[in-house]
Amino acid sequence: MDFDVIICFEIHAELSTKTKLFCRCPVSYDAAPNENICPVCTGHPGTLPVLNRKAVECCIRAGLALNCNINSRSIFARKNYFYPDLPKGYQISQYECPLCEDGYLEIPGDDGKPYIVGIKRIHLEEDAGKLVHSAVTFEASEYSLVDYNRAGVPLIEIVADHTKNPIRSLQEARSYLGKVRQILQHIGVSDCVIEQGQFRCDVNISLRQVKSPDFNERVEIKNMASFKSIIEALKYEIKRQSEIIESGGEISQETRLFDEVKMVTVPMRSKEDAPDYRYFPDPDLVELDIDRDFVRKIKDDMPELPGIRLNRFIKDFGISEEDAHLIIGKRDLSDYFESCVPYCTDLKKLGSWITNELIKVLNENSISIKKFPVAPKDFARLITLISCNNITEKIGRLVFKDMFETGGTPDSIIEEKGLKPIQETDILEKMVEEIMKENPGVVSRLKDGKKESVNFLIGKIMKRTRGRADAKKVSALILKKV
Ligand code: ZN
Ligand code: MN
Repeated sequence: MDFDVIICFEIHAELSTKTKLFCRCPVSYDAAPNENICPVCTGHPGTLPVLNRKAVECCIRAGLALNCNINSRSIFARKNYFYPDLPKGYQISQYECPLCEDGYLEIPGDDGKPYIVGIKRIHLEEDAGKLVHSAVTFEASEYSLVDYNRAGVPLIEIVADHTKNPIRSLQEARSYLGKVRQILQHIGVSDCVIEQGQFRCDVNISLRQVKSPDFNERVEIKNMASFKSIIEALKYEIKRQSEIIESGGEISQETRLFDEVKMVTVPMRSKEDAPDYRYFPDPDLVELDIDRDFVRKIKDDMPELPGIRLNRFIKDFGISEEDAHLIIGKRDLSDYFESCVPYCTDLKKLGSWITNELIKVLNENSISIKKFPVAPKDFARLITLISCNNITEKIGRLVFKDMFETGGTPDSIIEEKGLKPIQETDILEKMVEEIMKENPGVVSRLKDGKKESVNFLIGKIMKRTRGRADAKKVSALILKKV
């Protein structure tokens, strides 16, 4: 049997605001447990929420970037459920009248053509706290502690539309997630650091036999922490569900969890429907009235979207498509590249040095580009020196290592370490004569027409000068003497 697949994501992204959604507690990821809490975000009786304007702006910005309508009227609702990490006993979210609706995102489809994935809504809500279990799993734990630092951190929830151009394959799922994350990072709405739980996904998946009119019940997989586990969980579900249908069984609507160790999904609970949450408008918060000027201002301030920036990098700067994709993959890296541009004469080389040497150094030292100590001006100068054959690529790498470790400029390092290239013809000529005298066999082969022997002689000279000789000049000198 062959099956069609429908995949529908609910993405939760934590906003990079300074403070929480309804109180002034800071949003930070390195605080001690329960350091960033107050009576509001721990749900003390008598406290009242005050909405964070910046979070509303972020949500609208995401809505505009994902081609949504921004609703002028929007309502906060209480989503009621009990869990120890939710001190109020309800989450303030949006149900009817979310901030953003009816959007879409273009991704590369499986058939190679652009595919427009429908986005149903983007709403604003608060995050819950975090349970810390005493053992690796909940079952093995003797006790659990609760950290409320995350309670009240603003989230946007991006809900894909399963009726309008849903995702149809693992490949499209990967593209969609990657692109949403890239856009949120580029527009400064969320850092989307997966390891810190800033970008989390629930996913719905359902199957139907090819040519059959209806899809089977959908299964939801909750709270996956990495792209890899999302894809593995979907792979597992496609296999599990198709086996059930093939053997004549029925898929039940349920919520499952992905076990990252066994790489299987396991039942968690039968899926709750909206009525289970007893949504109702939060009486502590007034309806949001978003005026058009407010939206227009956000639109005017919107940074360039990654797709547009990518084309500009390729067209205006002439860097290779592969390098451009790698650089655009990270907003900070794109910004770094762009701040090097005014100082650099060879942008193509700049692009390839960033994607090779610079990324290598970042990985080896596990630092982010934000903490990278080399100033764009100095990095650009290094590339220019290499590009103008002032130093070889090999020496360039040595200089770069030194720049990273000492913070020196390329010119001062080249001067101090005596890495200045040897270009004086008389010095090089003398060396060529010596090397030829020392290697008569090679020279006679060269005279017999074996041109590749010249490389052996150049190699010898490079070794003697520690790579400082101008290889082109040396080659010309040797051939002249033969
Ligand atoms: Zn607070
Ligand atoms: Mn949610």
